[in-house]
Amino acid sequence: MKIIVSIKQVPDTSGKVAVNPDGTLNRASMQTITNPDDMNALEAALKIKDETGCKVVVVTMGPPPAAGMLREALAMGADEAVLVSAREFGGSDTYATSQIIAAAINRIGVEKNDIVMCGRQAIDGDTAQVGPQIAEKLHLPQVTYAADIHKDGDTITVKRMLEDGYMTIKVKTPCLLTCIKELNEPRYMSVSGVFEAYSKPLTTFDYEALKDDPLIDKSTIGLSGSPTNILTSFTPPQKGAGMMLEGADKATCEKLAEILAKKHII
Ligand SMILES: Cc1cc2nc3c(=O)[nH]c(=O)nc-3n(C[C@H](O)[C@H](O)[C@H](O)COP(=O)(O)OP(=O)(O)OC[C@H]3O[C@@H](n4cnc5c(N)ncnc54)[C@H](O)[C@@H]3O)c2cc1C
Repeated sequence: MKIIVSIKQVPDTSGKVAVNPDGTLNRASMQTITNPDDMNALEAALKIKDETGCKVVVVTMGPPPAAGMLREALAMGADEAVLVSAREFGGSDTYATSQIIAAAINRIGVEKNDIVMCGRQAIDGDTAQVGPQIAEKLHLPQVTYAADIHKDGDTITVKRMLEDGYMTIKVKTPCLLTCIKELNEPRYMSVSGVFEAYSKPLTTFDYEALKDDPLIDKSTIGLSGSPTNILTSFTPPQKGAGMMLEGADKATCEKLAEILAKKHII
């Protein structure tokens, strides 16, 4: 049994966010991190590994420096890593990205007892489309927004977090789950893990490695094969300073209600 975790390197938006004059993110000048939801997916996979001894494989599509993020995942406890990187893949939108990652997962191989895990959403692209699209392309059942996961043989019980409650779903492996931050607290790399990370396999899949997969077609990958295009990107104008009302007396509450009513909020 193995768990394949799809992780994305994203700009660290908790620090200074650098924006180009055209409104796009200046990625080159920002620190990168592993997408937060993907850390929860990886932690969930490592917990199942702790319990069952299964293998955990991490995969990312990105430029060559994304190998550093894969080494960190290996230092946390993943067993193998795959970097999907090629000029032909650059500029892919979510449709093309999921085709390429699905082809990479096909190449790694999904067997009866396997699980594919993704984060719910990347903090830069923010679409939450890639995980569900990978599942569709691999013809795997999917459960999204996983806030709790229990594995019992080939059955996974998933507590899904909805806006106003929870839903519990049972799914058979092989399946794909998308994970959210409520699922767990990701572990830190250990010192021995960091040393071991450099002797674990990190393989690169380039265009040649994936081109025979039926999902890889030059007309549906990369910038030219992407069905969506970003027409414009801009930073919204800053909102004005807020208004502070102090006090909890009746008059202040009435004033607050009057302001909210005027703005049609209540
Ligand atoms: C025309 C166009 C050009 C673009 N060019 C670029 C570009 O050059 N560089 C760029 O970074 N983005 C580019 N993008 C954005 C790119 O489409 C998205 O970043 C990417 O498809 C993932 O979508 P998302 O970030 O919304 O991920 P989401 O769908 O929000 O991610 C959900 C989950 O899917 C998995 N996932 C997503 N992306 C990856 C990945 N790359 N590797 C492994 N797992 C992943 C993770 O588990 C993640 O938590 C471009 C988009 C368009 C439309």
